[in-house]
Formats: sequence, structure tokens, C-alpha cells
Amino acid sequence: MKNSSSDLIIIGSGAAGLMAAQEAAVSGCHVVVLEGGKSAGAKLLLSGGGRCNATNAVVTEQDFCSNAPRTVRHVLEHLRPAQFVTFLERHGVRLSLEEDGKYFTAEGRAEAVLAALLAAARQTGVRIEYNRRVQEVVFSDGSYTVSGEGFEYSAPVLLVTTGGLSYPATGSTGFGYSVARRFGHTLVPTVPALSPLLTDDKRWTGLSGVAVPCRLTFWLNNRKAAASAGPILFTHFGFSGPAALDLSRHWSVSTGEADRRLTVDFLPELPARDLPDASAAVKKTARTVLSERLPARLAAVLLELAGIDAGRGWPGLNPKERRRLQETCQACELPVSGVAGWGKAEVTAGGVDLGELAGATLESRLQPGLFFAGEVLDVDGRVGGFNLHWAWASGVAAARGAVKKLRIL
Ligand SMILES: Cc1cc2nc3c(=O)[nH]c(=O)nc-3n(C[C@H](O)[C@H](O)[C@H](O)COP(=O)(O)OP(=O)(O)OC[C@H]3O[C@@H](n4cnc5c(N)ncnc54)[C@H](O)[C@@H]3O)c2cc1C
Repeated sequence: MKNSSSDLIIIGSGAAGLMAAQEAAVSGCHVVVLEGGKSAGAKLLLSGGGRCNATNAVVTEQDFCSNAPRTVRHVLEHLRPAQFVTFLERHGVRLSLEEDGKYFTAEGRAEAVLAALLAAARQTGVRIEYNRRVQEVVFSDGSYTVSGEGFEYSAPVLLVTTGGLSYPATGSTGFGYSVARRFGHTLVPTVPALSPLLTDDKRWTGLSGVAVPCRLTFWLNNRKAAASAGPILFTHFGFSGPAALDLSRHWSVSTGEADRRLTVDFLPELPARDLPDASAAVKKTARTVLSERLPARLAAVLLELAGIDAGRGWPGLNPKERRRLQETCQACELPVSGVAGWGKAEVTAGGVDLGELAGATLESRLQPGLFFAGEVLDVDGRVGGFNLHWAWASGVAAARGAVKKLRIL
């Protein structure tokens, strides 16, 4: 059995763990990172389709779901997007800003971000130990003892950055939740978020490959409970793309609720894209009028749903039919049968309750010297670089808290 001591043990070498490790080590702290896998940042490498949407031009607490938005705001103050961009530039990685506010790696390689974090860790003397899947955490005599098969490490301060349950193939097993539970923490129930939505309806799955901008609304008991805007992508199993992914956590959380619906507005820019009146489209068929505004395959499905023959002349539609078509285009109910689940969810909604952590440092209020950061916490962001930004910022906040703690121990 190996025995090793340091100031700070970090469990998990994902985005949050690596960011925290170098931040604490820069302040002179001896840091050891224990990683269960054989390499670091497996999830980070998959991010943004391999291009890594590392942050966003503007990140506020409103971009996240959590029970404690004030704590989220405090944590975000530890690292602004511009500071993260500068951090990467110092390590030779340039990000490029897209029109919608997303920052991606300029070279389109998530590997560059991981390499920068590993270089920062190396330069500051962080020790990363691979193939160290932690199985047990014990606190006694002011020290945390962390052990697994054939190893044991101890330190006065422990940071848990083990991620959540999403994409289990990247090493996420939910171990951090058992550490939290062991020390008396409350867990907000976990459900898949940023996951595609499923449907059994062949009309929609037949549109596989079609993508279109839209506005989605999630209704619970006939009340608007959430909304999203952006592209929806039809797939052979259901609905994906940012607009659908963003609402999936609401669908997941409300499982068991009888009255929930998802409606879509395929013409979100009305009145600019309003359907023309009869006189403006004298020689056109209904199919042509709709296909000028929407992909032809989607137009065909919408006409079928509205019960209008695609070949009919546009001027021949009576006002009632035109209104029905407009409603189908703008408030169409999507027949969702479920959420794709952990294997396809980009993040975890729920987790360690922020209310039991100190807002500024993410230290447990129940167990001194125990910190949490990243996806293991009850915070999930929308599509756009927000989840990685949460990992960076919470990693920095917890590392600073850990350093402060070590100074007073
Ligand atoms: C396909 C995909 C694409 C994504 N794209 C983006 C994107 O473009 N932009 C964005 O903002 N977000 C994106 N996300 C979300 C983002 O990647 C995560 O929110 C973020 O990586 C979470 O970081 P983390 O450090 O908290 O956890 P993780 O990255 O999950 O890291 C946890 C680490 O802990 C290790 N670990 C777990 N248990 C143990 C244990 N018992 N002992 C030792 N080690 C352990 C794991 O092996 C893992 O290395 C994406 C996610 C996925 C799955």
C-alpha cells in the first residue's frame, strides 16, 4: 500500500480538477490529483464536438439552473470569461469568438485546451496520479485519507471534482455523491440534462438530418415553465440541437407529471416571416409558400399535420385553414416520449446542494476542509460554453478557498 502526503488532494482530473489544481499550486500549495482513468480530461476532449466550446462572451447566473443562484453569481466572480481567455493565451491557446457569443478553440481542437491545463499543472508542480480510482474517503485527526486498490493518500484538505453521471464512458460514476452523502450532505435528485429528446412518431423521425431555427416552449400544467431558442435538429430517434437539449432537463425533472407538453414555433421571427395573404401568392401552392420559409421536408409534415393538401393553390385556402396552418407552424406540439439518458446527456442536473456550501469558497458547511467543484454540484448550464465555464470558475473558487483554509490550519 502506497502512502503519500500533500496539502490538498483533488479527486478527478476533468476541467474543474485541473483548473483547481494549478490555481492552488500557484499559491505554493502541494497538490496531488487522483484520476481513476488512465488519462486526464476525457470529457473535455469530447466537448463541442471535439472543438471545445470553452466559454461564452457573457456568463451570468441566469445561464444556469440551480437552487442557489446567488452562490452561482459569487462563484462566477472568481473567473470572468475574459480572464479564462487570457489564461489560455498565456499557455499558447487562442479561442475564437463566434457570432452567437460562443468561444471555441481557434484551431478547432479540444486537445489544445487539455494540453494547456496539463502544462499549467506541470509548471506549478502539481502531481497527477493516473489509475487511482478512489473508493473510500475517511476523515480523522484533522486529515482526509483517500484510498483505493493498492493506494492511500492523506491531506488536511480535500477537493471533490469527480463530475456527475453524464457520459459514464468518460469516468463519471457518481462517486462524488457518495463522498457528499458520507459527510451528511443533501443531494438534489440527479437527472440527465442537455440530452436529446425521444419520439416514436415516424413523421418526425422521418425528418432526420433537417435543422431549423425555432423557439421551444415547455408547458407544465398549462403554464409556460421554460423556453429556449436556437436550432432544433431532427434525428432518427427524436429531437436534438441546442433548443431541444436546453429544454431536456425540464422534461427530465418533471417525469411523472401528467400534464407536460413541448410546443415549437418554426417561424420565430414573425411578423417578418408571416405567411402571406391570398393576394400576395396568387400563383403559388401551399407547398411552395411554406417551403420558401422552411425546409421542404418540414413544410410537408406541417401541411399534413394541418390537414391541408400540399398541392392546393395558396389563394384557395380559406382564412380558417390559413389560421390553422399558421398555428401548426407556430405552436406545434412535439410528441416527446422521453429523454435519451445518461449515455447521451452532456451534463447532470442536480447534485450536491449549494445551500450546504460556503458561497464564496465552496467549502462544506458540514465538514471543514472538504470542498466540491464542477459538475458534481447542483448546477447545470445551457448550451453555449456555460458548463465548462462553471467547471473553470468553480475550480478556481474552491482552490482559493482551499489555499485560505490551509493558511489557517
Ligand atoms: C459530449 C459532450 C460535449 C460537451 N460539450 C461541451 C461544450 O462544448 N461546452 C461546455 O461548456 N460544456 C460541454 N460539455 C459539458 C462539460 O464537458 C462538463 O460540464 C465538464 O467537463 C465537467 O467537468 P468536471 O471536471 O466537473 O467533470 P468531468 O469532466 O466529468 O471530470 C471528472 C473526472 O473525475 C474522474 N473520477 C470520477 N470518479 C473518480 C474516482 N472515484 N476516483 C478518481 N477519479 C474519478 C473521472 O475519471 C473524470 O476524469 C460537454 C459534455 C459532453 C459529455
